Amino acid sequence: MRQSKKPNDLIFPSLTERINRLYDAYLMDLDGTTLLGDTLVPDAEMVIKTLRNQGKRVVFLSNNTTSRAASYAAQLTLLGIPTKNDDVINSSMVLINFLNNNIPQGRLLVIGEDALIRDLEENGFYVTDSESNVDVVIASFDRTFTYHKLQTAFDAIQNGARFFATNNDKYRPLKNSGQPDAGAIIAAIEACTGKPCEVIVGKPSRHTIDYLTSTILGSDCDCIIVGDRLETDIQMGINASIESALVLTGATNLDQAKRSEIKPTYIINSISNLLPDEIV
Ligand SMILES: [Mg+2]
Repeated sequence: MRQSKKPNDLIFPSLTERINRLYDAYLMDLDGTTLLGDTLVPDAEMVIKTLRNQGKRVVFLSNNTTSRAASYAAQLTLLGIPTKNDDVINSSMVLINFLNNNIPQGRLLVIGEDALIRDLEENGFYVTDSESNVDVVIASFDRTFTYHKLQTAFDAIQNGARFFATNNDKYRPLKNSGQPDAGAIIAAIEACTGKPCEVIVGKPSRHTIDYLTSTILGSDCDCIIVGDRLETDIQMGINASIESALVLTGATNLDQAKRSEIKPTYIINSISNLLPDEIV
């Protein structure tokens, strides 16, 4: 990707009213940025439509594996943002790419929901419920997590399985609350096995950046990543040397943003503030 013109560590983290330039592509986080639970963030429909009318590419980029890319596309379309399947990348897709390159046809024990399991099975992986003969334990966002699942993951790792995860988000922001995310599942498995998670493929990892540049963006894309979480969305921008915009509609408030060592290029109230003055 094209190098950021402004080193992130020189930007004072104050609130920006509007980002007064357009980018060729916008990498938009979903939960907390475009969506709050099952509803759109205010103005999301107008902002995406305006960017597209300006000829800009909008890609939705989520660490959340509890819906398949096609489901997210359908949900966004239903909510008023027409979206093709190819416009959505989630960490399941990055995981599949990583496993294909490293452990093709691996036997997997998945601590995750049905959407992730179906994605893996349809891409040739054997998903087992047993702790025996497991190549990799995969931890992900799992609202059906139980002590039995933790026991099976523990046993599989004790038997020699490797330990990967889709993402390390601590919780998923909802409108007035949140849900424990994959970070909590990883912590539980690490606590009982004493084994650190070996690979986390989702934002901010290099695996996500490499997947994007090798599939849809190209290596010289003029793009910005827009998200609500410093340690995933903004850190990925820093890791990839691309500009970033933190929105305050999800997991981070202004005070947290100002105190953090992870500095976005811009802090804006919401995606409404992405549009330059001349096209508002
Ligand atoms: Mg988010």
